[in-house]
Formats: sequence, C-alpha cells, structure tokens
Amino acid sequence: MANLRNQLDIAIVGAGPGGLATALFLHRAGHRATVFERFDTAHPVGSGLMLQPTGLAVLQALGLDGQIGQLGARVDRLTGTDSRSGRTVLDVGYAPLGPNVHALAVHRAALFNVLHSAVQRKGIALVTGFTATAMTTGETGHWLQSDRGREGPFDLIVDASGARSPLRVAARFPPKPRPLTYGAIWSTVPWVDSGFDRHALSQRYRKSSVMIGVLPVGRQTGDGPELAAFFWSLKPESYDGLRARGIAAWHDEVLSHWPETAPHLSHMASFEQMNLARYAHETLRVPAGTGIGFVGDSAHCTSPQLGQGANMALLDAAALATALDRAGSVAEALELYCRFRRWHVRFYQFMSLALTPFYQSDSRTLPFVRDVLVSGIGKLPPVAALLAQLVSGQMLRPLRAISLAPVTSADRAA
Ligand SMILES: Cc1cc2nc3c(=O)[nH]c(=O)nc-3n(C[C@H](O)[C@H](O)[C@H](O)COP(=O)(O)OP(=O)(O)OC[C@H]3O[C@@H](n4cnc5c(N)ncnc54)[C@H](O)[C@@H]3O)c2cc1C
Repeated sequence: MANLRNQLDIAIVGAGPGGLATALFLHRAGHRATVFERFDTAHPVGSGLMLQPTGLAVLQALGLDGQIGQLGARVDRLTGTDSRSGRTVLDVGYAPLGPNVHALAVHRAALFNVLHSAVQRKGIALVTGFTATAMTTGETGHWLQSDRGREGPFDLIVDASGARSPLRVAARFPPKPRPLTYGAIWSTVPWVDSGFDRHALSQRYRKSSVMIGVLPVGRQTGDGPELAAFFWSLKPESYDGLRARGIAAWHDEVLSHWPETAPHLSHMASFEQMNLARYAHETLRVPAGTGIGFVGDSAHCTSPQLGQGANMALLDAAALATALDRAGSVAEALELYCRFRRWHVRFYQFMSLALTPFYQSDSRTLPFVRDVLVSGIGKLPPVAALLAQLVSGQMLRPLRAISLAPVTSADRAA
C-alpha cells in the first residue's frame, strides 16, 4: 500500500458534484484519481439546486466560482405564502449575514458542466458505463467490482455514488434506509418575470400537504435562456393517480393555489417533462470503512427542504482532501475526515429531518405552528440572523475545520 508521502491511486465512484469535486481536489494534491460513472455519458439528472455560501466557498477554492457565478441566479431570500390566506409562512433572507452574502441557484447541468469541464481540462480519467456493485480488499489494495469486471488495485476508494449507493455495506456501520413520505415532481421552464422575484425562491403552501415552488436557476450555458425550476410536492405513490387524472386536472389544481404560475404550466404540456424525485433520509454514523470514504449523498442524504445536499457534498470533498493532506496514512486520513465532518453533517441532517414535516407532511398541527412562529418570532432580528446562518449552511463553521475561509461580504464584493 502507498504511503501518503507518495501519490495515491484513488477510485472515485460517481460523477455527481461530490465525486467531481473530490477528483479535482485529489488531482491537485498530486494523487492519481479515476472517476467511475455508471452512465455511458456522464450527465446530471434533475433540475435546479441552490449553492449556499458553503458550497460557493468550496467552488471558490477550486477556482470555479467565477464560471458558476456567470451562469447561476443570485438568491437573496426564500419566501413562501399560504395559498388561501396569503399569509407569509416562510421568509428567510441572507441580508443579516452581510450585504453581499447570498445563495446561487443553478441548473444542475450548469454545475455539472463547470465541474466536468474542469475534470477534463486537468486530464483526470473518467470511466463511463461502469456501475460499481461492490468493493473487495486484497493484499495489494482495494478493488471495485462491476458487472463488467473489476478495477484496481486502489489505495483508497471514495464512494460518491449518491443516495442509492451499493457500496454503503462497506461502511463501518451500514445504515438503515428511511424513505420519506413526500417527494416532488420537478421540471425546468423558462424564467417568467411577471409576478416573481428573480432573486428569491418563491413557494406557495396549503398547510404542509401542498407545496409549490419556483426557483430562478439562471442559464445552462452562457448564451442560453434564463430558466426556472418548478416543483410540486407529492407522495411518490400518488403520482400514478395524478397522471391518470391528466395534465389539465393537475394544472387546474396548481392554478387554484397559485394563478400566477399559468405561464410556467403552459411549458409543462405532459408529465413526461417532469422528473419524480423520491427522498430518503440516511446518515452514516461513520462515513468510512476499511479503504473507503463516503462523500455526499452516499454518506448523508435527506429531503432538499434545507437546500444543503450538494453543498455538503462539496464540503465533504474539500474535507477529505484536507484530511489526506494532513494524515500519515489512509486510515488516519479517513479518521480525520470523519472528525472534520461529524458535527456539521449530524446537525444539518437532524435539522432537515426535524423541519421537513413543517413543509411536507399530512400534519395539521405542524403547519399551524410554523405559520405562527414565522409570522411572529421569525421576524425578530436575532432569530432572522440565526435562520440566515442556518440556511447558509454555515452553522458550526464547517469551513474553518477544513481551512477554507468563511464567505464574508468582502469576499463577495471582491
Ligand atoms: C429535487 C431535488 C432538489 C434538490 N435541491 C437541492 C438544493 O437546492 N441544494 C442542495 O444543496 N442540494 C439539493 N438537492 C440535493 C443534491 O442534489 C444532492 O445532495 C447532491 O446531488 C449530492 O451529490 P452527490 O455527488 O453526492 O450525488 P449525486 O448527485 O446523486 O451523484 C451521484 C453520481 O453517481 C452515479 N452513480 C450512482 N450509482 C453508481 C454506481 N453504482 N456506479 C457508478 N456510478 C454511480 C450517478 O449516476 C451520479 O452521477 C436536491 C435534490 C433533489 C432530488
């Protein structure tokens, strides 16, 4: 096995944000990184996501913040109103963190393209059409198994294959999957200015069983049109029934809650234009095993209610690279990596699990409590600042542990 003074051979499973960012950090540190992706052509699945100041700081450390900044849409606040009363039931702004601190909403393809192009520019090997099924360990190192044979030996395997990772059985404490009751259907539509704030995630609720969202996501390519991600919360098992009732019936239902979304709906003529997202909640107690480290959704997945998943994947990538840089052996690096990420991951996973039912559940009490709290104490300056800090992903200072500077107003202004 290699010593950390030498270049390590590292296999990274999955070309999502976590895997690609890990490859870039490890390549920069001098290791031989190879990314294995199941798709024949690596590509992103889904619509938009929000990069928080944490994720943006990691992209800044990779020198990619300028490129992604040109494509994404600046988001200054998250807002939501009750469809019947018109009452504000979500209002969190980044302003308490400083005038230039904000999120950046991006189309997944934009984030993927920026990371993937950087991987290509650096000449990092990307093996496509390789579905990892298991890992094995022999005297010479660790091997990746797939339906088309095995690859190795590697000094380290990094699993970034997402929420349905087949490699998690190799973790020190394999998890128990917990599917969440609600998921959502998502689509990408042209951006509509009229009636929508281009710097806000806008949502409409009825209790917590109806949630509709419009998120500006900027452009997929520099010269492409401005886009928005549109989502409708639902229980995955009810999707077949929704489809059977027909797209017109669904349009009517959406419009009854939010008439201003008519222009968006006109671009969703069939359910084929929607992606169904099922959510699961799972946190590895220790995101490592012998010769394997877990980053991103394979280590911790949850509902996207708090908008942290991709950001946590990016933080994991930076943390693993820092750990490898500081440790004397792979085993020590994995211990250090787990320590770097432990409390931030646990805290945000807990908050996500606790907060999601306030916005996606069948409860009558939780949305009532939410509405009272948001319209009451949510506006008090200390609470507003705490909420901003929570949403920005910066609670418990995850950047400090891995020697990345927190994002300040001055950074953003520069
Ligand atoms: C609808 C929705 C909205 C979201 N919104 C936000 C948001 O606003 N902000 C945010 O931060 N996060 C958001 N998330 C979460 C975010 O998308 C994930 O946390 C993030 O993509 C995780 O990155 P990852 O690299 O760990 O995994 P993924 O993005 O899932 O990438 C995994 C990669 O591994 C590949 N793969 C899978 N299995 C194998 C295998 N066996 N062998 C080889 N390759 C494999 C996949 O093809 C994929 O390329 C959202 C998620 C959803 C579903």
